[in-house]
Amino acid sequence: MTNDKNCIFCKIAAGEIPAAKVYEDDKMLVFKDIEPKAKVHLLAIPKTHFAYLAEMDKEGSETVKYMLEKIPEIAAKNGLENGYRLVINQGADAGQTVFHLHMHILGGQTLDW
Ligand code: 5GP
Ligand code: ZN
Repeated sequence: MTNDKNCIFCKIAAGEIPAAKVYEDDKMLVFKDIEPKAKVHLLAIPKTHFAYLAEMDKEGSETVKYMLEKIPEIAAKNGLENGYRLVINQGADAGQTVFHLHMHILGGQTLDW
C-alpha cells in the first residue's frame, strides 16, 4: 500500500512535518495530538496509508495487530499506568478529520465521558 502525498499523517511519518514523537519503529509511529482532548493524548498510526478499517489489507491488519500489542508498553512509558482509552474514529458521524487510520490513546486523568 503506497503512502498518500497529500496526507498529513503520511507527511508526519515521512518526517516532512514535525510532530512530538514518543515512539517510532519501522511499522508504526506514536506522537502527541496537536490539540489534546485529555492530559495525555497520543496518536498511534501505521506508517502505511489507509483511511478506514474497511480498506485494510492483510499487511494493514497485521500492522494494526502489531500496534495493539505495542500500545500497552508505550502507554506505560507515557504516564498511563492507571489506564487509558483507545479510540478509532471512522467516517463522518464519528467526526473523523484525518483520513489515515489512527488510534487515539487518551488518559492521564479520569475520563468521565
Ligand atoms: P480524528 O478526528 O480524525 O479521529 O482525529 C484527528 C486528530 O489529529 C485530531 O485529534 C487532531 O487534533 C489531530 N491532528 C490533526 N492534525 C495534526 C497535526 O498536524 N499534528 C498532530 N500532532 N496532530 C494533528
Ligand atoms: Zn496517510
